[in-house]
Amino acid sequence: MKNLVQGQTGLWEVVIGLEVHAQVVSNAKLFSGAATAFGADPNTQVAFLDAGMPGMLPVLNKFCVDQAIKTGLGINATVNKVSVFDRKNYFYPDLPLGYQISQLYYPIVSNGYIDIDLENNETKRINITRLHLEQDAGKSTHDLHPNLSYIDFNRAGVALMEIVSEPEIRSSQEAMAYVKKLRSILRYLGTCDGNMEQGSLRVDANVSLHKPDTPFGTRAEIKNVNSVRFLGQAIEYEILRQLEVIENGGAVVQETRLFDPTKGVTRSMRGKEDAMDYRYFPDPDLRPLVLEDARIDAIKATMPELPDTKRERFKKEFLLTDYDANVLVAEKEVAELYEHIVGFAKGQGAAKLIANWLIVEVFGAMNRDDRSINDLPFAPEYLASLVDLIIDGTISGKIAKDVFVKMWETGKEPAKLIEELGLRQVSDTSVIEKAIEEVIAANAAQVEQYRSGKEQVFGFLIGQVMKSLQGKANPGVVNTILKQKLSSS
Ligand code: ADP
Ligand code: MG
Repeated sequence: MKNLVQGQTGLWEVVIGLEVHAQVVSNAKLFSGAATAFGADPNTQVAFLDAGMPGMLPVLNKFCVDQAIKTGLGINATVNKVSVFDRKNYFYPDLPLGYQISQLYYPIVSNGYIDIDLENNETKRINITRLHLEQDAGKSTHDLHPNLSYIDFNRAGVALMEIVSEPEIRSSQEAMAYVKKLRSILRYLGTCDGNMEQGSLRVDANVSLHKPDTPFGTRAEIKNVNSVRFLGQAIEYEILRQLEVIENGGAVVQETRLFDPTKGVTRSMRGKEDAMDYRYFPDPDLRPLVLEDARIDAIKATMPELPDTKRERFKKEFLLTDYDANVLVAEKEVAELYEHIVGFAKGQGAAKLIANWLIVEVFGAMNRDDRSINDLPFAPEYLASLVDLIIDGTISGKIAKDVFVKMWETGKEPAKLIEELGLRQVSDTSVIEKAIEEVIAANAAQVEQYRSGKEQVFGFLIGQVMKSLQGKANPGVVNTILKQKLSSS
């Protein structure tokens, strides 16, 4: 698109509201006892109700309700003591009942917020309008046969939480940060596994442009985005598309669009003229859902420590920077592993060092070898031992990197590797002194230069000493003795 530059919208302000569909972690569906495991053979997890057989009655799954309550508490929202299930009527082959049971007028949760993490450790609060429970649809497949479509009802009736944000998001970066933070909270809570590539978490992005202090513009809705990166790309494309329409004197039309990840563009799916009238009405098979305080309180008592609280605790307890703390708490497993490792360390300041080693070396090797945090090639407490060996002076930080590489390759304990490879740091001053004297004798010209004021030569001489000790000398000790020897003569 000519003359339009990503991230530059001139006088136009971007307005984004996100609708997230999060599949509830539960062994059974929202209104039937059928199983929900991902990847099962088609149509093996379907109760009569899910298949739309006449005369079947929905029975509300209490556990799914508890999961929604827990999520409501985790996003700082009001859990409504009365909510109502409505029928949303429409025809679609993968919707055998002819309607979806959802909550329109009285959702189970309203008025929450999450604080999203932006660059430079800034945060922004995004308000959440509501969270409601609803059924997922089945899945049609059109590309397995030239003239037949296949339908899998395993997903039909699985519980979803639809989480709707206020239109307070102002850029693709903020939208991505919102989804990341929400996903992190859901995973901490154990209410949604957040696996976007398996479709457990899908995002609809509503995007519009307006001039500040004027009413919002008309929005387009990009449906069913299934990765954070695609969400960013889809929104960026959509902003430029709308800018071009407006700058050319046109008007954005309200419509539903789809993102095509291979081409990086959004495409119109249906316009507002086709907007459906769902004929919502309260489902006569289900009574209003009434929650007792005691039930909500009992769930409150089981709430885990969530990422924001954990981050503040890590900063205080382990003296971590904002950056390190943020990285470590983003995934629950990483945060738990970090604390587990710190529990084994004894050295002064070990927690801070372990954070560095985990973020730089461990994550680096994990990415390179495509391994997960639950699948490290060595026992996690070895990282604590390694850091302790640096702190007590057995090895230098530089040698520790070599030890780490070996640890990663062999899974062996660092102390063993250090002995096997003879990497123990030389702190014996007589050995260091001898090496220094040899270097001074062998480099008379450089020593002369140093003594006549050319101080840069010092680095060269240090290098020579370290080299003769195979990098195993304590750098602080080498530094002190070399200075002494050079100034006395
Ligand atoms: P619908 O249910 O028809 O999709 P809602 O009013 O419930 O409409 O809004 C759905 C989402 O769209 C919400 O996340 C909301 O914040 C967002 N939204 C509403 N108006 C706008 C707008 N003008 N621009 C961008 N997002 C918007
Ligand atoms: Mg919508």
